[in-house]
Amino acid sequence: MTKRRKSSHSEPRPADCASQRAGGSDKVADLEHLALRICACRRCPRLVAWREKVAREKRAAFAQETYWGKPVPGFGDPRASVLVCGLAPAAHGANRTGRIFTGDRSGDWLFEALFQTGFANQPHSTHRDDGLKLSGCYVTACVRCAPPANRPTTAERDNCLPFLAEELSLLKNVKVIVCLGAYAWEGMLRVLRMSGHERKPKVRFAHGAQTMIGPYHLLGCYHPSQQNTFTGRLTKPMLVGMLERARQLAGS
Ligand code: SF4
Repeated sequence: MTKRRKSSHSEPRPADCASQRAGGSDKVADLEHLALRICACRRCPRLVAWREKVAREKRAAFAQETYWGKPVPGFGDPRASVLVCGLAPAAHGANRTGRIFTGDRSGDWLFEALFQTGFANQPHSTHRDDGLKLSGCYVTACVRCAPPANRPTTAERDNCLPFLAEELSLLKNVKVIVCLGAYAWEGMLRVLRMSGHERKPKVRFAHGAQTMIGPYHLLGCYHPSQQNTFTGRLTKPMLVGMLERARQLAGS
């Protein structure tokens, strides 16, 4: 059962914001410190207002729950060789549960595929204390606050991408980055450029697109949004196939 909190806007604590813990190493401490800073961020007024409004008003189906209502840090194995990057938290998904891709249909697809490919210990992801552990994989997003209509502005994206750049720099074993959708692909290209890695001519996003930029293999995969999964544009075998390819490229 989801832990209840007195307020949906209480100050984040390390245990709330930490990515998956893995034994107190410096790497974990750095990721936890980053997660705390992400959770406390209020840089984008429009997104702060939206995430908190959604958390107050709630969806009827979740009326009894205390929404997270704050930015959502990445989650997973600090020693990951595969990084999976999405767009942003869903208003009633991660903005409710406080863990990226947790509690919505996209997450159902993603974590089931991660389980099938051996990156997750269970196929479901319903709340922060559900026992999910990732192994060899870390899941994150370009923008950390749920945006209205899933559309952050360019300025909001640019405000937030430095968090992703910092996260990537702390995940020192990452070899493969799976970008879920064109937005994540473009965001990751920007992050890699910030880190001095660029490839010309630029490779465009497609499902199955693959390129090497700096030390990273970049893989494009359709986002497991309902728009893609309902229409059959993305099937479960397609998603599993991309994660298997990521595992092969990572040599794990
Ligand atoms: S989107 Fe990112 S930069 Fe903007 S308020 Fe949220 S965490 Fe901060």
